[in-house]
Amino acid sequence: MTDSKTAWITQEINSLKEQGLFTHIRTLSSPQGAWLVVDGKRVLNFSSNNYLGLANHPRLIKAAKKAMDQYGLGPTAVRTIAGTMDLHLELERRLARFKGVEAAITFQSGFTANLATIPAMVGKDDFVFSDRLNHASIIDGCRLSRAEIIAYAHNDPDDLRKQIEAAPKTGRRLIVSDGVFSMDGDIAPLPALYEIAQEYGIPLMVDDAHGEGVLGKGGRGIVDHFGLHGKVDIEVGTLSKAFGVVGGIVAGKQDIIDWLRQRGRPFLFSSAMTVPDVAACLAAVDLLEESTELVDRLWSNADTFKTGMKELGFNTGQTQTPIVPVMLGEATLAQQFSRRLFEEGVFAMAIGFPTVARGMARIRVMNSATHSKDDLDLALQTFAKVGRELGVI
Ligand SMILES: *Cc1c(COP(=O)(O)O)cnc(C)c1O
Repeated sequence: MTDSKTAWITQEINSLKEQGLFTHIRTLSSPQGAWLVVDGKRVLNFSSNNYLGLANHPRLIKAAKKAMDQYGLGPTAVRTIAGTMDLHLELERRLARFKGVEAAITFQSGFTANLATIPAMVGKDDFVFSDRLNHASIIDGCRLSRAEIIAYAHNDPDDLRKQIEAAPKTGRRLIVSDGVFSMDGDIAPLPALYEIAQEYGIPLMVDDAHGEGVLGKGGRGIVDHFGLHGKVDIEVGTLSKAFGVVGGIVAGKQDIIDWLRQRGRPFLFSSAMTVPDVAACLAAVDLLEESTELVDRLWSNADTFKTGMKELGFNTGQTQTPIVPVMLGEATLAQQFSRRLFEEGVFAMAIGFPTVARGMARIRVMNSATHSKDDLDLALQTFAKVGRELGVI
């Protein structure tokens, strides 16, 4: 018998299943890497954000083990109450230096970094100008802040200017954008956003989750990519993608970081990253500061893949990064394509409505420095085979 108090949930789940919109989560029984064991099958991985292969890097693992011997596992309370480990402060100093900013603060995730930052910057009777395609965690941070959310057209500085002109000039204001948009791989026009932010005296915040470890010199991010050091007020980032671990960061001016230590609610009311996370991230910063080799290999792999796909006749959209959308149109075709790829040993996810617009379904290919030339050849051959079979090329 179903419990009548929650019968609506059963109905909703059944309805999702009938529409083919219920998410089935695959089970991994291997570390992240170029190859994975997924649902018991060995497949070539083009689904995760392990851009640099750090998720299973021996140096990170060794650093995590060593730190656990010295500090144990968890922080066991929020940092303002139980005290903050020197390890966390060290990571924040190192990340600030890596990114060329005054200071940085870490959070449990990129998601909570946004939930902390936006409500600390704007509140009731304030205004936040947000790119229409911003990540869910930015949208939720905006909603939590209770500021009025004014969405501007995607990557459109002219529309941003129009929206600012049309909005009241009272209260505090904030401009916020993703750095790299994860479904298309396009990059925010940060120099133009900066010009507007300066002109109107509005703080500028960029969420560089997919740019951290990917864009800029040796993976220093979107601000470095555009040479805008000291000009972007707030850089949010994640340690869960290219850094291969888990955690969030906010980097910027000392005052803003100090303010987040006083008013960032996920900092004040939720425990910090665990010891092995922090130590592994420190080792990741070491690696990135020592050499640009991994970042260079990521871009060269992405270049090989994109060129190969274009030569085969696939439409790879507007990407400017290692994220490659293979545009297919109908969601059913994208799902069928992904299923056939998986049967042929390539793991790449289909993305459809509501994550992207109707009729814009795609396979999203995540390139990585972990792929060998043979891996890339095999991927291209498999895409060609499935593409011909399904009449895409
Ligand atoms: C992935 C992502 C996040 C969330 O990062 P986590 O560390 O996984 O919580 C936030 N913002 C953007 C733009 C992202 O792509």
